[in-house]
Amino acid sequence: MTFKELGLTPALLRAVSELDYVTPSPIQQRAIPPVLEGRDLIGCAQTGTGKTAAFAVPILQRMQTGPAPRAAKGAARPIRALVLTPTRELALQIKESFDAYGKYLPMKNTVIFGGVGQNPQVAALKSGVDILVATPGRLNDLIGQGYIDLSRVEYFVLDEADRMLDMGFIHDVRKVLRQLPDKSQRQTLLFSATMPAEIEELARQILTEPVKVAV
Ligand code: AMP
Repeated sequence: MTFKELGLTPALLRAVSELDYVTPSPIQQRAIPPVLEGRDLIGCAQTGTGKTAAFAVPILQRMQTGPAPRAAKGAARPIRALVLTPTRELALQIKESFDAYGKYLPMKNTVIFGGVGQNPQVAALKSGVDILVATPGRLNDLIGQGYIDLSRVEYFVLDEADRMLDMGFIHDVRKVLRQLPDKSQRQTLLFSATMPAEIEELARQILTEPVKVAV
């Protein structure tokens, strides 16, 4: 199995080959095709399995080949993809992955997380962002201050859902979810290393007929 056989466009094939990725990992082989088709997905996979590319690569491709967002007159460039992840370290890694996989695409990414000043993050948001990677607390802070509009998100990734629960972030996650378009109006991907009952229940609420992939 090659990345080309997964149906990736030249811009993405070039980016992954420059990273010396030769063979898609098991989670990539099984997740990329349904995500490219627009399906919702539950991925049971830990960090280190290549799960970031399993969601970032097909989302970038869909953003590239899918319909361009409606150009609302005078409106700012909408955030089209949102990735929620529990820690600053993961958020930074995911942002860097989007940069690397999207090297030959025009999408702009930014990352926000707590524990640092918000001004540079607000400036980045104001300059226009297609893909936002965020931790839940800072995201809600900036939503509350009116800096972030999630009403036009087309792709939503909930990363490390079980850790969100363990770290006490599930309330914050639910608050973010209330800002998103209805689940019928977006594509949702949920990743979790384990599937405790509370995450199963959340998955039932936020996903539509998801494909399940466990590695
Ligand atoms: P992740 O699980 O997404 O944190 O990825 C773990 C590591 O594997 C990262 O350093 C990736 O750059 C790397 N990686 C992801 N997919 C592949 C692949 N298909 N071939 C080689 N390395 C990969």
